[in-house]
Amino acid sequence: MSTETPVLEGRDLTRYFWVKQGRGPLARSVPVHAVDRVSVRLDAGKVTALVGESGAGKTTVARLLAKIIKPDEGQVLLNGRPAPRGRPRSYSSQVQMVFQDPFASLNPVHRIRHHLVRPLEIHHMAGGNVDAAVAELLRRVALNPPENFTGKFPHELSGGQRQRVAIARALAVRPRVLIADEPVSMLDVSIRLGVLNLLAELRDEERLAILYVTHDIASARYLADTIVVMYAGQLVESAPSATLTDSPAHPYTQLLLSAAPDPDRVTPPHLEGRGAPPSLSAPPSGCRFHPRCPFVMDICKREVPPSIAVSPGHVAACWLHVDPAERGGGENGVLATPSASMENEIKR
Ligand code: SF4
Repeated sequence: MSTETPVLEGRDLTRYFWVKQGRGPLARSVPVHAVDRVSVRLDAGKVTALVGESGAGKTTVARLLAKIIKPDEGQVLLNGRPAPRGRPRSYSSQVQMVFQDPFASLNPVHRIRHHLVRPLEIHHMAGGNVDAAVAELLRRVALNPPENFTGKFPHELSGGQRQRVAIARALAVRPRVLIADEPVSMLDVSIRLGVLNLLAELRDEERLAILYVTHDIASARYLADTIVVMYAGQLVESAPSATLTDSPAHPYTQLLLSAAPDPDRVTPPHLEGRGAPPSLSAPPSGCRFHPRCPFVMDICKREVPPSIAVSPGHVAACWLHVDPAERGGGENGVLATPSASMENEIKR
């Protein structure tokens, strides 16, 4: 892990949402623990992938870091200092977000030129020649020649081109951080790679700190320098990408990796067979993964596992990595029968 101050950091971010349960006089509001003490850092010139199933809390973390929503607990730091209150222009000019649906994020009644001129003017970035600045942005995202795109409406572009326009719009204010929430999941498979390669270029050439939110661990492995895995609102494992994908230390990460990469599938097939993610209004006690874990021990049901450094820069929150003498009870760590490949992984 870099010793430099991260460009953007979330520390112990916690966020509840209140939902109504029941009807009539019995109705009551209960908290949904969408994000529970999640810490994540974004470094200049690096991509951090936030990976997990639908409902894991990834998008909530992204929105907390972008300051679109406020944490109930925890802190966001920009360049090592507490981020300002609210989302002032000084913050949004440094931290930009790209959303999943490029069509919804571009107002269909405006031409592409308008979408790019607006942030340039609001943030005074045009430098006296708006059209030249627009053309440069379009070239930056490989929409060439720019004059073929400026006069078009969003519906006249392909999904991949629209997402490139959304990225160009984010770049208009020259941010230091790009938060990309499932930016390729709504695109055809054939054009996803092009958008991922564009993000890699922005990381390498402009030293952007990028948060790549995805349910597809294969694309995270392709793009990211670091992968952070979330399950049921909590961080369960983080490591450099190659380390995490070659030697996953948490059973949930192992299950994600053993699924055939299918970006259209939200839940890998064998996880479906192992039950669904828990309700976050009443999450399981102890380790939230325990009802689905093939390695579950008694202590997993009682106590939240600590985060253990399993190797340099590699952290996993799992009782399997705690010395049996320390976790008590002499449990051997395997009550259910895991597959041979999973057992081998966990013994590495
Ligand atoms: Fe959670 Fe226990 Fe399974 Fe580790 S072994 S993932 S702590 S249930």
